[in-house]
Amino acid sequence: MGESKRYWSETATLSAPWWVVLAEQEFKLQGAIFRPDKATRILECVRDERTVAPEQVVAHREPVSMQDLRRVHTASYLARLGRYAETVPAYAVAELEIPLSVANLRAAELACGGTLRAAALAITGGRGAVHLGGGFHHAFPGHGEGFCLLHDVAVALRALLEAGGRRTAERNNRNDDTGSSTTERLPQVSRALVVDLDAHQGNGTARIFRDEPRVYTLSLHNAEIYPHPKEPSDFDVPLPAGTGDAGYQAALEQALPRALAESRLTAEGGAATEATQARPLVVLLAGVDPYYDDRLGGLALTREGLRTRTATVLRAAAQHMLPVLVVLAGGYARNAETQYQLHADTLREAAAHWS
Ligand SMILES: [Zn+2]
Repeated sequence: MGESKRYWSETATLSAPWWVVLAEQEFKLQGAIFRPDKATRILECVRDERTVAPEQVVAHREPVSMQDLRRVHTASYLARLGRYAETVPAYAVAELEIPLSVANLRAAELACGGTLRAAALAITGGRGAVHLGGGFHHAFPGHGEGFCLLHDVAVALRALLEAGGRRTAERNNRNDDTGSSTTERLPQVSRALVVDLDAHQGNGTARIFRDEPRVYTLSLHNAEIYPHPKEPSDFDVPLPAGTGDAGYQAALEQALPRALAESRLTAEGGAATEATQARPLVVLLAGVDPYYDDRLGGLALTREGLRTRTATVLRAAAQHMLPVLVVLAGGYARNAETQYQLHADTLREAAAHWS
């Protein structure tokens, strides 16, 4: 580790070709399978390369607003989360698989904020942004499961689909009794394609956007692992355990053109629609748990196979001039250093396609 940890800037340099959003506290979860210093360790992997310049790394510290959460999650679920977290420290919720505490709830809210920030940057810059976290795709409107309390990608997409342009934002006001609100400018998304390449099916995403024609959900996943049952996505590609590089890549190359066409993103291209200035967005859940030595994923991909997979999506998006929001999603490699390198490869591919 270097002597200086400050490998980021406080504000995005608007001239940067693409961005990395770092919400450092996001993985300081209690009792979770996540490694708490994951995000900064991933950055350390590329520190001595020309992959990411410090001015491209945006430190993000703001949890998402309650207003943004309410567009995805039910009022009763949000009330229940708050009540449990504040009255019963580290309340164990069986299906959640992590303790529900104030710290974990704040981490989930921060993850939503980081994903929204990265999505806005991706659209504004036109190429892409990586949130070094996020991808909590097992959260449902009215409950959480599989380590996922709040659905960060859905919260971000709802904010950008429904509240694009100017809006009055409820500032992060928990510690602010002035009750002030500020006007925050968010870019608008016209439609989105969610490409979920985490080893687990994106059941929460599928449910949340089931009746939303502007969001198309594609999930490639291990058919034999959690969740049971799966929620139908717009396009599901169930794969047998132990699929391996060749089978996975063939499935992806077959699925992606169809998803791009059916989502109608390619018809729009990257151009803003005239009336609203809204733009289409690709969201990639770049989970690295399909890795062969992962504790949970079971799809038997190699490091090279994962990298090729990520490159395939980024290349396809670039061909159609579509901006991409990348979130990390899962990764539980037995060896910690390996896990950081697998996620760092996602940054390396981003640099190769967006710089
Ligand atoms: Zn997963």
